[in-house]
Amino acid sequence: MQLRYSFRLYPTSGQQAALAKAFGCARVVFNDAVRARHDAYQAGSPVPKAAELSRLLITRAKKTAERWWLAEVSAVVLQQALRDAEQAFRNFFDSLAGKRKGRRMGAPRFKTRRDVRQSIRFTANARWSTTSGGKLRLPKIGDVAVKWSRVLVGKPSSVTVIKDVAGRYFASFVVDTDPEAITDAAPEIGVDLGLKHFVVLSDGTKVTAPKFLRRAEKKLKRAQQALSRKEKGSKNRDKARQRLARAHARVADARRDFHHQLSTRLIRENQAVAVEDLAVSGLARTRLAKSVHDAGWSGFVAMLEYKAVLYGRKVVRIGRFEPTSQVCSHCGVKDGPKPLHVRVWQCEACGVWLDRDINAAVNIAKAAGLAVTACGAHVRPPEFGG
Ligand SMILES: [Zn+2]
Repeated sequence: MQLRYSFRLYPTSGQQAALAKAFGCARVVFNDAVRARHDAYQAGSPVPKAAELSRLLITRAKKTAERWWLAEVSAVVLQQALRDAEQAFRNFFDSLAGKRKGRRMGAPRFKTRRDVRQSIRFTANARWSTTSGGKLRLPKIGDVAVKWSRVLVGKPSSVTVIKDVAGRYFASFVVDTDPEAITDAAPEIGVDLGLKHFVVLSDGTKVTAPKFLRRAEKKLKRAQQALSRKEKGSKNRDKARQRLARAHARVADARRDFHHQLSTRLIRENQAVAVEDLAVSGLARTRLAKSVHDAGWSGFVAMLEYKAVLYGRKVVRIGRFEPTSQVCSHCGVKDGPKPLHVRVWQCEACGVWLDRDINAAVNIAKAAGLAVTACGAHVRPPEFGG
């Protein structure tokens, strides 16, 4: 089963120019293909094969004075234009032979720049992708802003970029869905922003920032200290400032990479992901230690959300109306706040030992209505002694 999803695109003026070029090149290749078939028909020679047309109208054409500019757009876009021409002829002949229902189709006509709808198609071969910032990365076009407005069920196999008569741009994704894949009950998970760890999952997994990020953060700290020691107005201060700027950039890159990897993993492995909405809980929360991570959190949640759209998953934000450390995730009893240093405690009502972070993650998942099991929050009683 194939599904189609359209999302509004907001290309920059430079990207609009690149798209205009790609629309134009695709149109030229389409028209060349129509002409080649028409000429063959007129001459009574056999219809040229697809591979032959590709060699002639794309590969060789790029080396000519008339068509050299075809090299400036993605080759996949040109291949797809050839496919479109082929399909148009197939529909026409099927229609002539009575194989198609409905209105008789005319012979494929030439496209013009005055057509109300311009389009190009990128298949998986074109290596289009989405960026960590939720943009659509198109070869030879750039990273285009997208408004992800609904849930996309499954992984898209191709994307068509369309400019309509009103000058608006859209990305239309084709998704091959296997109905079973949608209904299969992949696990659901709650994600809590950790204190010592970046996140803690309701299944008990604690995810720490990777080494490369911690190293970059350490370097940033040293660069900050070095700058503060330098005399104002000195040459060394300028150098130290540059080093600091570079360290900042490296931390930002490393953090983005890490968020990218983790969000992809969570979305791939789970049908639904519940996270806490810090925008809501920010007021109520005075836990300073966590605020260190806060800046990264909103970016991370944004990644989860757009990837959920791409993979047909669900991300639920819950506000922390209920302080999650005060409720036992096993029996639901609210037994009051606990000081920060208390990492593990025993529920007075049901006797289960709870890990602070995991308990919070399970409560987040439950608040979102996810069917997680609470067993992840259970821990063995702490060991004393030494
Ligand atoms: Zn309990």
